[in-house]
Amino acid sequence: MADQITLTLPDGSPREYPAGTTGAEVAASIGRGLAKAALAVEIDGVPVDLDQPIDHDARISVITGASAEGRDLLRHSTSHVMAQAVFDLFPGAKYAIGPSITDGFYYDFELPDGRRFSDTDLERIEARMREIVKQNQPFLREEYAPQAGREVFADQPYKLEIIERASAGDLSEEETGDVGDGSTVSVYRNVDAEGNVLYVDLCRGPHVPSTGKLGAFKLMKVAGAYWRGDEKRPMLQRIYGTAWEDKAALEAHLHQLEEAERRDHRKLGAELDLFSFPDELGGGLALWHPKGAAVRKVLEDFSRERHEANGYELVFSPHIAKSVLWETSGHLGFYAEGMYPPMEMEGLPTTRAR
Ligand SMILES: [Zn+2]
Repeated sequence: MADQITLTLPDGSPREYPAGTTGAEVAASIGRGLAKAALAVEIDGVPVDLDQPIDHDARISVITGASAEGRDLLRHSTSHVMAQAVFDLFPGAKYAIGPSITDGFYYDFELPDGRRFSDTDLERIEARMREIVKQNQPFLREEYAPQAGREVFADQPYKLEIIERASAGDLSEEETGDVGDGSTVSVYRNVDAEGNVLYVDLCRGPHVPSTGKLGAFKLMKVAGAYWRGDEKRPMLQRIYGTAWEDKAALEAHLHQLEEAERRDHRKLGAELDLFSFPDELGGGLALWHPKGAAVRKVLEDFSRERHEANGYELVFSPHIAKSVLWETSGHLGFYAEGMYPPMEMEGLPTTRAR
């Protein structure tokens, strides 16, 4: 191994470092502000932990909170903290997967005796999470051979199943995020000042260096989710949360959700007496009231006028057709699940797009 390596910064400038330098040290060599803001680094485009030694020439960039990559890290790391809080408050819980998603994260749990999370539970979990953040527990990475990894998760059936399928090369993309390629099992632990293990998770990483980097989060709701999306498998409880780089970004997101709710067409439709969705008709089927019908007619007339003014001619087509039409169009090949089921007409299957 070379004594010196060359790391190329995003602006194209090369810098020499001793081999084995970590991302944290590189960030510190660039500036104190960057060192403080750093959550992880990208080495040749691959995100890795700040404390991982770098032993070869590479392109490097520092990941901070306000970027898409940084938010991903914050969100996924917050999901670990949430799971730790759940284990503290609900001994015997089982956990499945906890990825980052758009604007937030989730984690799927199974509680002993079929217990369900309540809204009060969410508040308690969030309060426990704030204590974990205050403790500033480091995230520590370890790698095991698959057999040793199985022992770490001996009492966690969902994690064991992920390790099994990783070894067989049979993982969904979401789960690959949890475990990597299966040749080794990577594990992240949170420990206290004495090194006692407080939380352990199966995870490819990377993670923020410590829980103190987190804090601008909020738990949003609980929903049921089948394990692996399969209705024949156990129904787990999915807790959703949102997490951001700072309080202002979190507040802005929550404000935007409130505004969107105020503009929800189901709410406005009822308030303005435009339309309703009576139970007798079925979910999502609108009944247009006189005011709503007037608005709709104005819009339709305007649309037709504009089309005709620009030389278009109107045609009308049926809403349903022989299924062979939807095969030709490609709908049935790609969107069959989102289409109404076929009905028999003249002895032939007929269907329509939704
Ligand atoms: Zn993780």
